[in-house]
Amino acid sequence: MNELRNLMNGRVLLPGDEGFDEARRPWNLAVDQPVRAVVEVADADDVAAAVGFARLHGLAVTAQPSGHGPSGDTDGTILLRTRGLGGVEIGNGVARVGAGVKWGEVLAAASPLGLTGLAGSSPVVSVVGYTLGGGLSWFSRKYGFASDSVRAFDAVDAEGRRIRVTADQDPELFWALRGGGGDFAIVTAVEFELSPAPFLHGGRIMWPIERAPEVLAAFREVTASAPDELTVWFDLLQIPGGPGFVMVDSTYLGRDPGALLRPFDLIGGAVSDNRRLLPVAELGSICDEPTDPSPGMSRCELLTGLDGEVAGVLLDEPIDPLVGVQIRHLGGALAKPADGGGAAGHLDEPYLVYAFGQPSETTGERLDRLGKALVPATSGRKPYTMLHGGEQAAAAFPRETLARLRDLKRSRDPHGVIKANFPVLG
Ligand SMILES: Cc1cc2nc3c(=O)[nH]c(=O)nc-3n(C[C@H](O)[C@H](O)[C@H](O)COP(=O)(O)OP(=O)(O)OC[C@H]3O[C@@H](n4cnc5c(N)ncnc54)[C@H](O)[C@@H]3O)c2cc1C
Repeated sequence: MNELRNLMNGRVLLPGDEGFDEARRPWNLAVDQPVRAVVEVADADDVAAAVGFARLHGLAVTAQPSGHGPSGDTDGTILLRTRGLGGVEIGNGVARVGAGVKWGEVLAAASPLGLTGLAGSSPVVSVVGYTLGGGLSWFSRKYGFASDSVRAFDAVDAEGRRIRVTADQDPELFWALRGGGGDFAIVTAVEFELSPAPFLHGGRIMWPIERAPEVLAAFREVTASAPDELTVWFDLLQIPGGPGFVMVDSTYLGRDPGALLRPFDLIGGAVSDNRRLLPVAELGSICDEPTDPSPGMSRCELLTGLDGEVAGVLLDEPIDPLVGVQIRHLGGALAKPADGGGAAGHLDEPYLVYAFGQPSETTGERLDRLGKALVPATSGRKPYTMLHGGEQAAAAFPRETLARLRDLKRSRDPHGVIKANFPVLG
């Protein structure tokens, strides 16, 4: 392993080195990553050299800019920290970003131009990791999966060669990298189209938990007829040892949602409401998710509907010991196959539910119980970016998509040099 140090421009940390434990730690502190080495890559040449080294020695590499999506399946790999691959350039409505760039950096650059990238709830998630898995954005109802906005990847293949991946140059790999996860190449930069967002209205309304049945009824009413410009998420929040709240988060791609959110205004009794016109750069302030690493446990399910029975499962007993349960409205462009779209495909399910809590046996049991109670209304499929430790990539794809991804993996990386958090052959 020591020769790896001589090959790299960036820092190489081995077990026993000062800083090794910190460098291998993911964002979810409940996940251990007993890797063989951490390489803090300085440039794309480092990525190529690290992959070449792994190939030569029968090892595997895994890329993680920040570790927001760890599965715990990194034993014995060489962990490539890609934070050093920075840079955001925008021209002609297209952004080119390095593999270490976080969404907040792209939004800050696109915002003054009246443009947006297809970011999700958190500004600290990396563009590349999120996009390789599809990427469910606030704006996906209008513009589809983030992965389908990609025009090109710069990457390193399993032989350690630097490659450019586009629809013309390598259509099959281009398809796979747009939603099939990080199992096929190590991406060093991505180019994607930005989408128009001259005005953005959004924010959070918050009520005491007692109002949850009314808020959920209004959520069902609003989402039943929402235009694709409007996205609304419903949240139950139980502060550990504190009060509970029910919340509605919304974004509207326009100056004013008018009466579209009126059913929420009629409820009354809100303890806060910060809906406003906001710059795209402030998108992350809506959910205001923690940006520092912390331990967590979660589960996601795609819902085939949101009828009275589902409402009963969610509201008839306190969510405790869970901290949060969120329902995201999907549909719109997500429900239609994109022209020339990638492996993310489309989602028939109109909602997803995402539940999380602090790691413990009781949290695990509560997540299981919730999942089982929701079975009549779940499809069994899960978005790739929302998979969690112990789950398989197979849950994210229809059968034909999975078979096509597996064929590609076997032909392009027969020695298993590149390892995604959720490998397609796993
Ligand atoms: C607070 C929070 C909010 C989130 N919100 C959303 C949301 O709104 N919508 C949504 O869809 N998802 C969301 N996610 C999930 C997130 O998109 C996934 O966890 C994603 O995998 C994170 O990517 P990352 O690069 O930041 O994390 P990492 O753990 O660093 O990387 C995740 C995986 O991506 C692959 N990867 C990363 N970089 C490369 C590369 N350069 N080359 C090849 N493979 C690579 C690897 O397989 C890696 O294991 C959220 C996650 C968190 C923690």
